Amino acid sequence: MRIDVVTLFPELFDAPLRTGVIGRAVQSGLVRLDVHDLREHGLGRHRSVDDYPYGGGAGMVLRPEPLFAALEPLRRAGAIVILLDAAGERLTDALARELAGLEHVALVSGRYEGIDERARTLVDREVSIGDYVLTGGELPALVVLDAVARLVPGVIEAASQQDDSFANGLLEYPQYTRPEEFRGLRVPEVLLSGHHGEVDRWRRREALRRTLERRPDLLVDAPLAESDRTELDHLRQQASDPTGTRTDET
Ligand code: SAM
Repeated sequence: MRIDVVTLFPELFDAPLRTGVIGRAVQSGLVRLDVHDLREHGLGRHRSVDDYPYGGGAGMVLRPEPLFAALEPLRRAGAIVILLDAAGERLTDALARELAGLEHVALVSGRYEGIDERARTLVDREVSIGDYVLTGGELPALVVLDAVARLVPGVIEAASQQDDSFANGLLEYPQYTRPEEFRGLRVPEVLLSGHHGEVDRWRRREALRRTLERRPDLLVDAPLAESDRTELDHLRQQASDPTGTRTDET
């Protein structure tokens, strides 16, 4: 997959793109990443990229000329241009998977009060990372980049993704590592048992429990088996009657 980033602050991408899983994906060539400095397309001696908003008001707006100069070649090269914008569609696991299926995307980071509206004519999609406003689109671009690049085949083991939160519509089950006991807290016995079937059943039940407790909205669209629905009924019953002592009469 090829990912281009257009930004006024290329240095913000240095460490994240050299580190960890994404750094390795770039080094191995599974993901080709190019960061473009919008300032290179700035106007005049000072390479100016912004100006006052027509109509008055606070802040500055990114001018259309540098954005057109940066984005037109990327569009010609076949990139799907994605603007990071608080008004865009919300980033979800489903959207990250959709974007990971594309061959070439260009992520455009806004700054100041945002971009001149006319530059949106070069934008194919707009993505928001949540209902809050950041000072620039660089962190959102890195969030999209990370969420997408890890899904590119070969970047991380498929097996280690399949139970991740949202991948199968549920939150992930609790994870434990050594030691078996820490400050009086023991690892659940089933995880030490070596019974793969039992471990799988426990993990499925705990994923259902966690999703029911924290994100019941996800259960509406999650692909659930009949056994999951029975388990959920059981968990709901447990939650409404934790001691198991209530009868129909009480
Ligand atoms: N005036 C804009 C508004 O009210 O939506 C906010 C501009 S913000 C200070 C500057 C840039 O940060 C935006 O152009 C966008 O690229 C990025 N940005 C801020 N919040 C974002 C979010 N929640 N998701 C994606 N990008 C965001």
